[in-house]
Amino acid sequence: MRRTKIVATLGPATDSVKSLSEMIRAGVDVVRLNLSHGPWPVHQKRIRMARQAATEVGVEIGIMLDTRGPEVRLGSLKSPLHLTPGDRIEIGQQGPDSLPNLTVSWGGLFETVKPGESLWIDDGRIVVEVESVEADRMTLIARNGGTVQSHKKLSRPESGWPLDPLTDFDEECLIRGIQEEAIDFVALSFVRTIDDVFWVRRFLEQHDLETFLIAKIENRMGMDNLEEILRVSDGVMVARGDLGVELPEEEVPELQKTIIEAANASGKPVITATQMLESMVEHDRPTRAEVTDVANAIWDGSDAVMLSAETAIGNYPVATVAMMARIAERAEQSSTFRRRREFQRERVADVVSHAAAEIAEELRARAILTPTESGYTARMVSRSRPKTPILALSSHIKSLRQLTVFWGVLGIRMERIEESDDMVKEAIATTIQNGLLDQGDLVVVTAGTPYGTPGTTNLVRVETIAEPILHGQGVGADLAAVTGPIVYLPLVGVPPRHFVAVVEGYRPEWVAMLDNAIAIVSTDLGLSSDLAVFATTRHIPAVVGLQGIGEALPEGHYVTVDPVRGIVYRGRVKV
Ligand code: PGA
Ligand code: MN
Repeated sequence: MRRTKIVATLGPATDSVKSLSEMIRAGVDVVRLNLSHGPWPVHQKRIRMARQAATEVGVEIGIMLDTRGPEVRLGSLKSPLHLTPGDRIEIGQQGPDSLPNLTVSWGGLFETVKPGESLWIDDGRIVVEVESVEADRMTLIARNGGTVQSHKKLSRPESGWPLDPLTDFDEECLIRGIQEEAIDFVALSFVRTIDDVFWVRRFLEQHDLETFLIAKIENRMGMDNLEEILRVSDGVMVARGDLGVELPEEEVPELQKTIIEAANASGKPVITATQMLESMVEHDRPTRAEVTDVANAIWDGSDAVMLSAETAIGNYPVATVAMMARIAERAEQSSTFRRRREFQRERVADVVSHAAAEIAEELRARAILTPTESGYTARMVSRSRPKTPILALSSHIKSLRQLTVFWGVLGIRMERIEESDDMVKEAIATTIQNGLLDQGDLVVVTAGTPYGTPGTTNLVRVETIAEPILHGQGVGADLAAVTGPIVYLPLVGVPPRHFVAVVEGYRPEWVAMLDNAIAIVSTDLGLSSDLAVFATTRHIPAVVGLQGIGEALPEGHYVTVDPVRGIVYRGRVKV
């Protein structure tokens, strides 16, 4: 099971249920709709196709709406505008045919900018200086040459635009997306301060809406206020595209590590984004540098890695996802670079979930099961980055979908059960039904009781999935359980290696045979019976006082003998 999650941006290159299904099969966990491109009906159609594809594949995916945020874009141009240094251009609010040469999406621009300011067109590819400003237009001088295309971003690198965190279009899409399409995550572009996040929460609450808010850290202000922003968000994105525009490119690697570390420490998921496999937009293989970048982002501690143009408009969306999944799986195998996470453990839930992860690793458990209505317990365990897979069981489809962005967590649907004994049983039964566990597996179960109250993670149980065949009296409380094939004494022929001897009564002439057994099971009664005394003195694990051995233990079948609990289990069982 791959631990790192993959977020893929949808676009014209992914516009069929068939290709979306293939992408999900290849490893997509979350799809992203970028509201900066295209009208709502296009996004709505993509959301519905993605859900249909996930249903066909039989998994839950997360759906993320990524806002335009406080950005200003140029209008449509009839044809690209070529600029050479020193050219004068005008920006206004009229149509494209007459002067001014360019139109803009926000009228407030003209009362905001001051003559002498530098602005960027198309992420800084073209730098312009404001020469003069009037009530509804301004004149700019190009500082370098280049070609301006329609809808390119106009940015103000020094201080950003004094705009609300959501555009009108964002608001409309958020309402429709969350209400009608059950969106799981909203990614907030260009978050500047804690107030931006509060602003959006207030907006959502006013409309009685709820969703995960992922703050995209993509400029200086977001970086300066990172800790605060993290406190009020449900996760963050390392938005390297704009980070590398708004701040010097060479700072991006350090910013990435800083953001990831802060997110890990706070237990919030972090997505590393942009240009991860950029060359695969055109080619069917990535560069070695890109492969290394993805692996490093994982080793830095990313919960998820993201694809943008690679899937939205790329030539090889499915191959790119498959490649990313391969890189992730390989990176996760490295024990040298896999970093255990350390974080402040103050609350009961912090300590208990961390301990569950430790216990699971030490016992080499097959899985950590977290029955969790809200997803909280699974998120807490994910924070410790255990080697052991985290299987989160919930009756809430919303919780399962939101867990798609968390490292190492696989969501499984389970009926809601209140009582903790039954809940543990149901969690195990559901996981077995899903083909994720087998007889003999040892699992660690962690949850919160009373069940369904987020934040109460307070229970850890270690359970072995095993079918006891016989119960008797254990001999050798200081010995470990052993597994081997049944051999009846007296024996005809040569015994197999590591056999479990079955005897009725004790005969001195069997001593040589019994000495070679790894365990003994017997009908003899009592810890002072001859057989029990023999087993005790020879340090051979045994279970005595068994009834009905003949039918229950066919010759040659493998059983596990647990001398502590006095149980004989079918097959190989980790006790
Ligand atoms: P975007 O955000 O793709 O919406 O611009 C990510 C980034 O800036 O890296
Ligand atoms: Mn961005």
